[in-house]
Amino acid sequence: MVPATVRLEGKPVAEAIDAATRSAIAARGSRRPPALVSLHRGVDSPFRFYLRRQAKAAQAVGILFHEESLAPGQGPEELTQRLVALDRNPEVDAVLLEHPLPPPFDFHRAVSALRPEKDVDGVGPMNLGLLVAQHPLHVPAVARAAVRIARHYRVPIEGERVVVLGRSETVGLPLALLLARREPGMNATVTLAHSKTPDLVRTLREARTIFSCVGRAGLLTRANVPEGAHVIDVGVSSVPDPARPGKSKSVGDADSASLEGWAGSLTPVPGGVGPVTVAELMASVVRAWQLGHGKGPG
Ligand code: NAP
Repeated sequence: MVPATVRLEGKPVAEAIDAATRSAIAARGSRRPPALVSLHRGVDSPFRFYLRRQAKAAQAVGILFHEESLAPGQGPEELTQRLVALDRNPEVDAVLLEHPLPPPFDFHRAVSALRPEKDVDGVGPMNLGLLVAQHPLHVPAVARAAVRIARHYRVPIEGERVVVLGRSETVGLPLALLLARREPGMNATVTLAHSKTPDLVRTLREARTIFSCVGRAGLLTRANVPEGAHVIDVGVSSVPDPARPGKSKSVGDADSASLEGWAGSLTPVPGGVGPVTVAELMASVVRAWQLGHGKGPG
């Protein structure tokens, strides 16, 4: 048994990122502040929760935030036209597109209408390709956040056996690529596991650090996490809240009660990777503005 599992809180990490974001914007002189546009399908979109969070975070650091939605009945062609217009708009530095998108929309196809400089969450094929080619421009904020929180708390990565659970193009895959980069602090020996990985327990048993990006409550317990291993929990699921009948609450992939006194450290959900992701996203908007394709820094 480890004496106590260290809780890796996201708040101080997010605050440090936000402080750097604010000072980069404060140094702008007479130039306009960075401008972010979030584009979604419409008023009923489940994305609205994230929009509120984005709007609040942008306002807190001094980023201009604007949300746009498609009109009812508008489809993939109109979405592409809107993205092309935002890409050409010099008043816009960064564009976020709701994802996942339901059929008939094709998220990856749609986001390709943006230049990589404005694809601020790094989810388009160009940005993913640049990461593979070891020349990253924008990398998905959630992947950077998972790495940032691990590094902040000196969770073992360099040269270590690290398992990333989940291989989506927007979360697990870019995270695995980041961890394997030839870069001080990274250089991890990464295993990318997923739903078709046979004998997950055996794979996990070798891990010093686990990044879990699945979205399945209770997936990680002391039955499959090695004693003393570190867990960065990226997954978020909604489960019934026994303390508030009829209501739900967010939990991660890790069963925190099972891992208490067993894992070396663990990020809480909520309050771990989530706040750092929002802060990293705002930092990416500043980077896009500094690149000047929206004629931001001039
Ligand atoms: P996704 O597209 O559904 O991908 C889930 C991945 O998990 C897939 O690769 C899937 O494997 C794998 N998987 C499913 N069941 C598994 C199992 N039993 N064992 C091992 N792997 C399994 O989800 P996503 O968009 O990548 O998001 C992943 C999680 O991150 C979600 O919970 C999401 O809410 C969360 N998230 C958090 C933040 C944050 O700021 N904290 C931001 C974004 C996303 P296959 O590829 O074989 O299907």
